[in-house]
Amino acid sequence: MANRTYYIAGNWKMHKTRAEAAELAGALVAGLRNGKHKYLVAPSFTSLETVGPIIRGTNIALGAQNMAAEEQGAHTGEVSVLQLKDLGVQTVILGHSERRHVYKEDDALINKKVKLALKHGLEVILCVGELLEEREAGRAEAVCETQTVKGLEGVSPGDLSGIVIAYEPVWAIGTGKTATPEDADAIHAWVRGVIGRLYGGGAAEKIIIQYGGSVKPDNAAQLMAKENIDGALVGGAALKADTFVPIAAFN
Ligand code: PEP
Repeated sequence: MANRTYYIAGNWKMHKTRAEAAELAGALVAGLRNGKHKYLVAPSFTSLETVGPIIRGTNIALGAQNMAAEEQGAHTGEVSVLQLKDLGVQTVILGHSERRHVYKEDDALINKKVKLALKHGLEVILCVGELLEEREAGRAEAVCETQTVKGLEGVSPGDLSGIVIAYEPVWAIGTGKTATPEDADAIHAWVRGVIGRLYGGGAAEKIIIQYGGSVKPDNAAQLMAKENIDGALVGGAALKADTFVPIAAFN
């Protein structure tokens, strides 16, 4: 995988009270102390203030799962980039399939969030991925290309270093179905090609593209062995140290 650093992120979704989040964060700090890769956990907003101090100064960064498209204002129920930064958040996951398909976020809204996050110095994990019917119709590449192009519209070459892409086929998220390493690698290569067309070959070589979709301890190493797969965005298996640590510590 060229000279890229593997990046393993855990998306805790809408799970865990603060006490549970603290317990998991503590276990991950201990379990990943000698981990060689780059790590991130994204707890619920309500646990960011609890988890932040536990992981500060370790090799695990603090992420949020979403943010508002505006800096502040009358947006009941939303959380702003300024509030995330105030809690020490370094990275925000944007365009997750649950945001796209359950909460109907479109590419324009996601793009607005991407640019706002970058403006404030947050790293962005931009999720892209096709639905099952789109894959079956042979449109996986086109869907991921559109989501990548539209998600990054207006992002300057200089800001691209703040972008990580996560390829997450929607049919593989939380379903126990995983893309084969070959199928996943093919989409990663495609997306890398899109980045190359938009930003040049050097940028395409550098960008980290994570795979997400039922990554587990027993399939992580095979996925990571593929040339274009540079890490993982993990949901279900990120909720327990017993399953996240072996994924994150793969060799
Ligand atoms: C995710 O939500 O980003 C995800 C990949 O979930 P899971 O690992 O549970 O499929």
